[in-house]
Amino acid sequence: MQEVINSQGNSSTMKILVCGGAGYIGSHMVRWLSEHGHEVVVLDNFSTGHRGAVQWGELLEADLMVPADLQPVFASRHFDAVMHFCARSLVGESVTDPYAYYANNVTGTLNLLEAMRRHGVELLVFSSTAAVFGQPQSELISEDHPKAPINPYGASKLMVERILADAGQAYGLRSVALRYFNAAGATLDARIGEAHACETHLIPNVLKSVLGTGGSLKVFGDDYATLDGTCVRDYVHVEDLAQAHLSALNYLKDNPGAHTFNLGNGQGFSVRQVIDAAARVTGRNVPFEVASRREGDPASLVASGRKARDTLGWTPIWTDLEAIIESAWRWHQSPAF
Ligand code: UDP
Repeated sequence: MQEVINSQGNSSTMKILVCGGAGYIGSHMVRWLSEHGHEVVVLDNFSTGHRGAVQWGELLEADLMVPADLQPVFASRHFDAVMHFCARSLVGESVTDPYAYYANNVTGTLNLLEAMRRHGVELLVFSSTAAVFGQPQSELISEDHPKAPINPYGASKLMVERILADAGQAYGLRSVALRYFNAAGATLDARIGEAHACETHLIPNVLKSVLGTGGSLKVFGDDYATLDGTCVRDYVHVEDLAQAHLSALNYLKDNPGAHTFNLGNGQGFSVRQVIDAAARVTGRNVPFEVASRREGDPASLVASGRKARDTLGWTPIWTDLEAIIESAWRWHQSPAF
């Protein structure tokens, strides 16, 4: 394998297993790693991922819920690290079907961790979420904010964070859990982007409303205690998330133990502000109607991304909301899958 000096100052090529690499954030990660000179193997069960999203690296169809699937994956290759994006991630669905969430997100992860332990793979970057915090008690959420998830999705991710801490103590696993705030956007060439069979996220739904492909947007509640009554969120570009994962992996080389970082731009935008920004970006009206609140939605979720910036050297590029929406707009006008 060729040694490269990549733009993050990492001088050695790594072989990285990306679990869930056919999904939205996972596929952007795979591309980022490939473009930074790393060798990537994608593992996905295609329950929600897209074959068309896997355009880089080797592809293995396997399911974390089936331990026998994992044995040959690890037995026939040595991985320097694993990045783990496989999860069920819909808050509402987690409330109505919690067993599926605990099974996939906790048991599936345990199966992966056990396979890593057996095969001596000691570095993991894990997709966690702002949902581990529950109702925020401060304007900016830092890593030490109390964790009190209000839905099974957040609870399942917090359980994994605890497992990772215990695994660090017991087995020497080195891990970083990255708690994403609101992932958004797409690569500028629109080769990959956000494509969920059942779209629940705000920016895709806003753009689908503009395009007339998703019906009129429903704004879930305008009676919150926020600047205009609609919920406030911190939107972070999917490529900036990818950058943070690679920085996290490099950090683990010198830092044993289990670490957590919040990933957000530190600036909140209301649903109405997102709608207005999308209208400016697209030059079109955004049809919408105000509906009742969605269960489980905190009024405001804004990250303090300071620890990631100071400790990992994370430098988000996409700090402008309109630029993030513009990148998503390019994708949504003609999605490749
Ligand atoms: N939202 C909305 N209409 C939609 C989708 C989302 O009003 O069709 C609101 C939602 O209530 C929340 C914000 O937009 O306040 C962001 O929701 P999203 O599902 O994108 O991310 P979440 O914050 O739930 O992870």
